Amino acid sequence: MPQAPADAATRRAVAPVICYPNDTLPAPDLALYHAAREGAAKVAEVVVPPREAACFRVGAGQFFRISSVEGPQVGDLNLWNADDLSERFYSGKTRALHGTHVTTGERLWSSFPHLRPMATIIADTLDWYGIDEFGGSVHDVIGTRCDPYTGNLLSGVQYHHCCHSNLTRALADELGVSLAEAEPHVHDVLNVFMCTGFTRDTGQYFMKASPVRPGDYLEFFAEIDLLGALSACPGGDCSSEHTSDTAACFPLLVEVFAPAPGALEGWQSPPPNGYDRSHGR
Ligand SMILES: [Zn+2]
Repeated sequence: MPQAPADAATRRAVAPVICYPNDTLPAPDLALYHAAREGAAKVAEVVVPPREAACFRVGAGQFFRISSVEGPQVGDLNLWNADDLSERFYSGKTRALHGTHVTTGERLWSSFPHLRPMATIIADTLDWYGIDEFGGSVHDVIGTRCDPYTGNLLSGVQYHHCCHSNLTRALADELGVSLAEAEPHVHDVLNVFMCTGFTRDTGQYFMKASPVRPGDYLEFFAEIDLLGALSACPGGDCSSEHTSDTAACFPLLVEVFAPAPGALEGWQSPPPNGYDRSHGR
């Protein structure tokens, strides 16, 4: 290892700067969303079976709630523009804008060149958790999704109920296309209810038992027409392992709610990003 320079301590002591100060982000009108949610009626529900995934559709201006039922369970969420699957949830940029974990008032942003809010979190019953002494928190945008390729790389297994495969099957069934056609649309997820962080000593991605209990939920306002897919992770509460059938797994519930007519007076579905895409030419 090269020797540290004489001023190493000084260089390390430089204070960090936030990469993307987010105080200029357009703020969601949570009061309007909550008022609209008060009078909203349930229009659909989907139960996601353990170690499987299911698709659901939410119109712009509607709400969807993901709930823990029966037992602690983590969910891997994909979102697409229902009319254009090339616009999809951008986990990395959401992380850059809001941090490693998301909660009420924060938004799920879409991929380039769209980069607009797809959904806004309006309620999170696990908001109380905060950041624990290990640096862990809930609902992360740092993990990617459990997948059979990494499982094969690390331990040579052929396991078919990782979230990646669950999402692929669910999307193929929803669209009526082959697995090969569906798979490239599956993308990095929002890890709903998952408790994760990075170890301070080695910087490694860690997970620990989710604090979620039946009755807990994460609720969203759909800013654009959405196609969603949610996988009930084979890791269950992700307290020990995934990519196997070892963990206790439970279903997840997705419910869709439509507001009363006129309840969103003044709200408009966000337009695509304003960059002109000339890229300097
Ligand atoms: Zn998973």
